[in-house]
Amino acid sequence: KSPAGEPIELFTPQLHKELRDRLELEQALRHVLETDNGELHLVYQPVVDAVTCAPVGAEALVRWNRPGIGPVSPDLFVPVAERSELIIELDNWVLHTAVRQLAVWAAAGVLGDRWVAVNLSGAHVCRPEIVPQVLGTLAEAGVGPRHLIVELTERELLADVELAASNLKMLREAGVRVAIDDFGTGFTSLTHLRWLPIDKLKIDKSFVTNLTGSNDQSLVRLVIETGHVLGVEVTAEGVETVEHLEALRALGADQIQGYLTGRPEAAVPRPVLPSP
Ligand code: C2E
Ligand code: MG
Ligand code: MG
Repeated sequence: KSPAGEPIELFTPQLHKELRDRLELEQALRHVLETDNGELHLVYQPVVDAVTCAPVGAEALVRWNRPGIGPVSPDLFVPVAERSELIIELDNWVLHTAVRQLAVWAAAGVLGDRWVAVNLSGAHVCRPEIVPQVLGTLAEAGVGPRHLIVELTERELLADVELAASNLKMLREAGVRVAIDDFGTGFTSLTHLRWLPIDKLKIDKSFVTNLTGSNDQSLVRLVIETGHVLGVEVTAEGVETVEHLEALRALGADQIQGYLTGRPEAAVPRPVLPSP
């Protein structure tokens, strides 16, 4: 406060630059989503069975290539989108694109029982339209719900846990599976697990990276046992070495995702793009 008792706002040049950059990123992303100008694309990272290493599905991860700037990390622009309504548009774009890709794989006869997981922000899961959006997208593309997993990524606290739980319940009743992403780092706590109907827990890669430390090994064991007590599968993310894989197998992880078994890559065969 100033000597006169008025609040003083500390508006440093650094803060000013950060705000300006965020606003610029938000405006650029809004333009990309409004015009669907081809700057966004999806890559797919395989998820494999921990014992056999056979692929069981893939996670769709969004990529943004800005002309003149280059690739922008989702760790940078997803949180910006999450601060505004843009996250809803972004999640919907990802959902549509991934489901269309599923239809392409199914038509090419290469899908089998495999699935694609898409990330949905907590804000989106609390909206009533999420259920018709997801089910409508699948129906439109003629893709069965068992081929889709939604990963709830919770960087911010769920605004309405009960509404999220009822939406997820409806999705599960329709056959879509639900995973909790980055378990152990986000806001999803053990309390949430009592409320949220789920099929899968994903252990955050930060635990896997330090798996050689005994503390993290105990934590990973705890998460895997928690998942199994709840009757859900547990996937470990960020598996980069054979040592990680062997430790996770010994601890009972069901599925593995990481650079060791496959990096995120563009889809093959490519989706058929509508002619201009
Ligand atoms: P996430 O959903 O936990 O995704 C896993 C991240 O770990 C991805 O980073 C992936 O490329 C990276 N990764 C996979 N294997 C390894 C590994 O072995 N080692 C290391 N060091 N990293 C690995 P990416 O693609 O940069 O995405 C970062 C985060 O951005 C995602 O974390 C997710 O929270 C968010 N995100 C990405 N795509 C989307 C999307 O389409 N929608 C939403 N809402 N969020 C997304
Ligand atoms: Mg994820
Ligand atoms: Mg994750």
